[in-house]
Amino acid sequence: MSGRPFLQIPGPTNIPERVLRAMDRSVIDHRSPEFAELTLSVRAGLRAVFGTREGVPMLYPASGTGATEAALVNVLAPGDRVLVYNYGVFSGGLGVVARKFGFQVDEVPLGYGQTIPADDLTARLKADSPTAPYRAVLVVHNETSTGVTVDIGAVRRAMDAASHDALLIVDTVSSLGCTDFRMDDWRVDIVICGSQKGLMLPPGLGLLCVGPRALALAQNGGGSPRHFWDWAPIMRENRIGLFPYTPATLMLFGLREALKMLVDEEGLPAVYARHARLAAGVRAAVNAWGLQIVCDDPSAYSNSITAVRMPAGVDSNELVKHARERYNLSLGGGIGQLNGSAIRLGHLGSLNELEVLGLLGGTELAFADLGIGPEPGSGLVACQRSFLAANAQPTTTGVLAAATA
Ligand code: PLP
Repeated sequence: MSGRPFLQIPGPTNIPERVLRAMDRSVIDHRSPEFAELTLSVRAGLRAVFGTREGVPMLYPASGTGATEAALVNVLAPGDRVLVYNYGVFSGGLGVVARKFGFQVDEVPLGYGQTIPADDLTARLKADSPTAPYRAVLVVHNETSTGVTVDIGAVRRAMDAASHDALLIVDTVSSLGCTDFRMDDWRVDIVICGSQKGLMLPPGLGLLCVGPRALALAQNGGGSPRHFWDWAPIMRENRIGLFPYTPATLMLFGLREALKMLVDEEGLPAVYARHARLAAGVRAAVNAWGLQIVCDDPSAYSNSITAVRMPAGVDSNELVKHARERYNLSLGGGIGQLNGSAIRLGHLGSLNELEVLGLLGGTELAFADLGIGPEPGSGLVACQRSFLAANAQPTTTGVLAAATA
């Protein structure tokens, strides 16, 4: 098929040409001074994205799932109690991983579309067992299956209100580099991520950022048996820019370029504002289509992905298949409880207004081909109006500010 493929799943995301070019080079010696310099520079850039001064970034040749495993086994021992809220495939998935390591999981079931109720969290922590308290609260920041973003500041306040000292472990696989994240301000103990979404890289890196409490626990005999995931040798080697295993050499060149784009050039506040602007345009289109957004709390709408319920009787998997085969447009299908009944529009990573219009226009064509309700063009117009309204807003960053100065 001619033209470029439209990859609009909720990750992996499109990789900027510059990042591809940065990785298109010979492999270098991962024990050389050049590589050590590269490691030190990406770890500094990552701290900015994680929102931390003192957190320690860890990089694994892995994916987000590997990073999750690394987070858990360094600080939790079999039998330790953890609290999990299940509001989708990935938040529920944290409980699944934790059980496999023999941790005792208290799982609170929520509906798809819901976010964590802060007062419920406080109540559960206040009522916690004094003899075998929860060792960790596990949270997914952006639930990729539903398009719900949890307010991590509110989670921290809820834990503080119960004066509970469980670790706060947060999965940011589909939010980091898209939505503001403040590891230090929210006192998040471990942040989990992968390379293939907001960081605009191919899949292949599992990332963590680890705070002082978690590090101390791991260093003082805490955690489970571990080898590959163990933080101690990684920290020892990272201090001089090296790794205890063969790192994903070329990915680190890509990461350096991506961090340069996000942190040094566009700037993180502008990156977050762009994601918010594009997400608002997508939601305006969905509303114009008369379809229902899965996230049922507008204050929890995700700026990375929008999950959309299909009209009754429509098989969303058919729509996804048609969009891919006819238009080379990859949409996310519904997963978990939403399999067959929802689509997920990914609007994260390296993306601009025109690409969002392409995503929406292609989705409208697929709707029309299959005789599904929404009027072609209705979502496009609503999205354009949303973008135009955003352009008219006063802004302190970017081209617009320079043009109006
Ligand atoms: N957590 C969230 C929120 C995700 O969206 C994903 C994948 O999409 C994962 C964890 C698993 O990450 P990976 O597929 O990189 O192992």
